[in-house]
Amino acid sequence: MDIKNLSIESAHKGLLEKRFSCIELTDAFLNKAGKENERLNIYVTITGEEAKEQAKIVDNKIARGERIDLLEGIPCGIKDLMNTKGVLSTSGSKMLSNFVPPYDATVVKKLKNSGMVMIGKTNLDEFACGGSTEHSYFGPTRNPHNPDYTAGGSSGGSAAAVASDTCLYSLGTDTGGSIRQPASFCGVPGLKVTYGRISRSGVTAMASSLDTIGPFAKSVRDIAIVMNYIAGKDVNDSTTPNVVVPNYLQEINQNIKGLKIGMPKEYFNNGIDKEVKKSVEVAIKVLESQGAFVEQVSLPMTKYAIAVYYIVMPAELSANLARYDSIRFGLKPEDNGESLEDYYFNSRGEGFGEEIKRRIMIGNYVLSAGYYGAYYKKAQRVRTKIIEEFNEIFQKVDVLIAPTVPGPAFKLGEKLDDPLQMYLVDALTVPMNIAGLPALNVPCGITSKGLPVGMQIIGPQFSEGKLLNIGNIYENL
Ligand code: GLN
Repeated sequence: MDIKNLSIESAHKGLLEKRFSCIELTDAFLNKAGKENERLNIYVTITGEEAKEQAKIVDNKIARGERIDLLEGIPCGIKDLMNTKGVLSTSGSKMLSNFVPPYDATVVKKLKNSGMVMIGKTNLDEFACGGSTEHSYFGPTRNPHNPDYTAGGSSGGSAAAVASDTCLYSLGTDTGGSIRQPASFCGVPGLKVTYGRISRSGVTAMASSLDTIGPFAKSVRDIAIVMNYIAGKDVNDSTTPNVVVPNYLQEINQNIKGLKIGMPKEYFNNGIDKEVKKSVEVAIKVLESQGAFVEQVSLPMTKYAIAVYYIVMPAELSANLARYDSIRFGLKPEDNGESLEDYYFNSRGEGFGEEIKRRIMIGNYVLSAGYYGAYYKKAQRVRTKIIEEFNEIFQKVDVLIAPTVPGPAFKLGEKLDDPLQMYLVDALTVPMNIAGLPALNVPCGITSKGLPVGMQIIGPQFSEGKLLNIGNIYENL
């Protein structure tokens, strides 16, 4: 079996036509996952036993001549930020390094109901805070294209899992770019959805007004398939609205004649790597040749996005992480100390990594009585301005296309000692989280050093179908 060339649909067909059994399929991916994990550190936990058990169920169904669903028996990776019942779910932190959840996240439950074969739980920056997985308690994930480079983050494990053929699709989360950026670095499609499109229930919260969940896959078409299973309202997450979920597979067969594409000039400016800029411009030309109209537009508020994000995100993060008091949740400290305060100090001191501590301090600072108005409140006002600017631009154009990240993957260790440099990598991805907009990373080139380049297709809320359609057309040209 040539697992490199399999897609969700071709694997499904292979199972139906009995070219291979689900156990054979699962074994092939588990073998590959074991090998690549040694080289790249993709998975925190590989769930071989569970995967094989599920594969047997699928094989029995096929043997009985029962219908199987498109995702049934298809190998998948799940970000370790998501609760999986009975399976270690660490959120990449020492604090939760022994946490075995008693229930499944809604997305996990949905995929299990569709017969997913989970290969394992993928590595991430601690509590999804970072852009390189170097902040993981379990060590960094390496880039499948060149192991000296980072896979990106925070969902670096999920991106590398797909890029190295250890599963056919995976789930990640995107709060400030954590799906799109590693997708771009690893050269795979990855979708950040509209805020609320996919339930966050059972997924460890990072910054609740920005967090989204979404898929990585080997093709845009496969992303559309996964979306059909995981999008929609959930009674356990009140931020999932009752907006109709289209059949995304049907949405991706439209032509793009007359489509209006905006190129935001602030996303193509001096700070952008030349090769990245060139690749994205060429990709836009390709779409133009299919009948799309391209115009340059301006989003002057872009320059404030990083500042807004690095105030709002830590504010929400510090509140969310307050629950890890090592009484209800979290690792017990080695030394209880004399007082309750000592106990908190010791457990949070031991359980959280440096980057998390930095963000908790920033978050508490911007929310503190004396500085709330100057930082948090002001950031919220600017957030509204950014939202309004996007609303206006989408009166003029249908979608925006821009580089996903200002540059290709960077080397391991390159930015680790300079948090500000690490934060600047997020400059082009955080605006969509601030505004709650969907954006799809589509690979669009390779640099002279052999590193992938990605473009992002950005649209108004709930335009995932349109973005997938454009991505699919581009991919197939
Ligand atoms: N790199 C960003 C950060 O460090 C994004 C994280 C995310 O989207 N989870 O906050």
